[in-house]
Amino acid sequence: MKKNLLDILACPMCKKHPLELIEIKTKNDEVVEGVIYCTSCESHYLIIEEIPVMLPDELRDKKQEDEFLKRNRDSLPEKIIKQGKPWHL
Ligand SMILES: [Zn+2]
Repeated sequence: MKKNLLDILACPMCKKHPLELIEIKTKNDEVVEGVIYCTSCESHYLIIEEIPVMLPDELRDKKQEDEFLKRNRDSLPEKIIKQGKPWHL
């Protein structure tokens, strides 16, 4: 995901803009892995293999997200690991 995509993304749950970007792995100006965080409703959205997964809660893949959070536990802030919505560890 190009970092400047953040300029146009809004939260699918509450429509807030702008959103906070937490980078885990980057390549030039692309975020390869990371998390997009909404400071308004505290939802977070994963960036996996450069693709931001901006889906409402009912369409999310809990198993995939659990694995992502476990794998990146040390790279993510506590607000996502321990208090993130809709899921946390
Ligand atoms: Zn939100």
